[in-house]
Amino acid sequence: MGGIIMQNPIVDMDGDEMTRVLRQVIISELITPYVELKTDYYDLGLPNRDKTGDKVTKDAAEAIKKHRVGVKCATITPNAGRVEEYKLKQMWKSPNATIRGILDGTVFRTPIITSRISPAVRSWKKPITIARHAYGDVYKNVEHRVTGPGRAELLYTYENKKEFRRTIFDFDGPGVIQGQYNTDGSIRSFARACFEYAASVKQDLWFSAKDTISEEYDQTFKSIFEETFETGYRPLFEKLGIKYFYTLIDDAVARVIRSEGGFIWACKNYDGDVMSDMLASAFGSLAMMTSVLVSPDGNFEYEAAHGTVTRHYYRYLKGETTSSNPAATLFAWSGALKKRGEIDGGGALVSFAERLENACIKTIDDGVMTGDLAALCESGGVSAVDYISFISAVRKRLEG
Ligand code: NAP
Ligand code: MG
Repeated sequence: MGGIIMQNPIVDMDGDEMTRVLRQVIISELITPYVELKTDYYDLGLPNRDKTGDKVTKDAAEAIKKHRVGVKCATITPNAGRVEEYKLKQMWKSPNATIRGILDGTVFRTPIITSRISPAVRSWKKPITIARHAYGDVYKNVEHRVTGPGRAELLYTYENKKEFRRTIFDFDGPGVIQGQYNTDGSIRSFARACFEYAASVKQDLWFSAKDTISEEYDQTFKSIFEETFETGYRPLFEKLGIKYFYTLIDDAVARVIRSEGGFIWACKNYDGDVMSDMLASAFGSLAMMTSVLVSPDGNFEYEAAHGTVTRHYYRYLKGETTSSNPAATLFAWSGALKKRGEIDGGGALVSFAERLENACIKTIDDGVMTGDLAALCESGGVSAVDYISFISAVRKRLEG
């Protein structure tokens, strides 16, 4: 093991399929030769989740609360096909949802930018980070398919039996209705995570919603953001020279397209779901999207935004070489090591993590990249390599 000392461990969550393979090579080729790696290891691979009755996932989340920094490999979220494939005892919940439920966090997604891949939007020069509120709204809705004439009402019964009742619509035929909710507590956590994160990366924070149409629901989000800023973050933002601003979601979309990038865009749950996929594709590739879950009490969990790259894994099992892109998994590790260093005052660890990221970007800038990126590259002098050769090329630049 290499020379840089870690004072405290990071929580290392192993995963599935091709990303499990990538994780192993990244650690052995790019980290342990330079860092005396200290981890608290949890195997979140599907066989072990099944074996432990998914206890391992909860233990890992608790460990993140203890150590404050974790890095997670992509994992399979089982569906009926996976239950059959892995002979599972039951269809375990998504580990990401379980961990998010325990840490109560906000997910920030940022693209990795290289000079070789031009974003679809010409004005974008810097990454745009999406902060998605991962709680409530349409994801926890109650719906009803109305089959004939009648009245839809909104009814809320307080604990003291007092009622709020309002007509939603008088139907004269079939239609649909939907109820959704959010809580001030969750919105406040979301707002705090966004202000904390914007301050930690020293970038402006935008928040958008539709308060002109949704005068109670979206207005609540807007007010809580404003109040959080005014009561907790204005002086810090002024000191850092960064801004918070609110705008309507449609105006935000127009401004984002005209912008240079380099800010955090906080979105409600559905907006964040849609806009993060739009941004990932417009910046180039899902394989270049990093992701970090930040909890309101300052715990950080880093991962790649993509999944376990199943199709590549089946080819790998047959002994074929695969051109799976390790960049986002590598950035998950560098992100976690950098945060560990920042929290512990470990300057050497922080600068190692930065050198690792630069080496990865330099490799791609030099024209050495995996197939997914080579296919997006307009300029010449590019060689498409498999994941092993890509990681070796990064190591060469890390040493050079
Ligand atoms: P995926 O693993 O992200 O892969 C979708 C496709 O995108 C791949 O087949 C590949 O395209 C391309 N791709 C993604 N990452 C890449 C990389 N690093 N390098 C090169 N190409 C890459 O999504 P999925 O196929 O929908 O899901 C597979 C499994 O991952 C599922 O079991 C799902 O539950 C899980 N998943 C986990 C997470 C997580 O843990 N955070 C997130 C999403 C999905 P080509 O095959 O065309 O090359
Ligand atoms: Mg989506």
